[in-house]
Amino acid sequence: MVYLKSEKEIEKMYASGQLVREVLDRLGEIVAVGMTTADLDAEAQRIAHERGAACLFKGYPGPGGPFPGAICASVNEEVVHGIPSSRELQDGDIISVDFGILLDGWCGDSARTFCVGDVPAETRKLVDVTRHSLDMATALAQPGGRWSEVATAMSDYIRSQGFSVIEQYVGHGIGEEMHEEPQVPNYVSPELRRRDILLEPGLVLAIEPMVNMGTKRCRTLRDGWTVVTADGKPSAHWEHTIAITETGVRVLTA
Ligand code: MG
Ligand code: MG
Repeated sequence: MVYLKSEKEIEKMYASGQLVREVLDRLGEIVAVGMTTADLDAEAQRIAHERGAACLFKGYPGPGGPFPGAICASVNEEVVHGIPSSRELQDGDIISVDFGILLDGWCGDSARTFCVGDVPAETRKLVDVTRHSLDMATALAQPGGRWSEVATAMSDYIRSQGFSVIEQYVGHGIGEEMHEEPQVPNYVSPELRRRDILLEPGLVLAIEPMVNMGTKRCRTLRDGWTVVTADGKPSAHWEHTIAITETGVRVLTA
């Protein structure tokens, strides 16, 4: 069941999205060599609590037990769901930070990959291509369109740059719940071929391309959470919560 949101509800989701944006802006300012992923987690949590928001990921149930962090902090070959820890960031690392909150009953969800110090050119390109594929999606997802057209453009672009699109993890509808229908793949999945997503006004989606430098295949570490690339090469992740409106697209987390 896909829940379409009213203009008033989208306004509330904008407030949630803006708080997520604020937190990620802040983490982007402070992220540096020698900082731990737990430091970033503490800062995200501090701001969210100061503003009366709940951190959606904290305690989220999964095979590894309740998720311990407020952010997902995934470094280098870690794709998503990395657990914040005492790990110190090194010069040349990339770190994908995913953050979600519940504010006034509505969710916001966004992710960015930050470069730490002097990152190799090919890895920077991976980060830039992933970010650009998200920008393409927010530009192309117009009311009346179909998601398969957007997903085709994203995946064609990513592959043309020599990278691979993760198929195992996808975006999602979002609203009063963090994960609502529909599932939003970053490529044309068999499911999407059978049943396309019509981009109608009121639809709110979390679009989140996850892009690998090498193989698209991933595996989960024994902690039950951390997803890593199967070949150990780096991975990047960018995400926005967007709303389809009568007149276009509103990026709620930008
Ligand atoms: Mg997210
Ligand atoms: Mg998400």
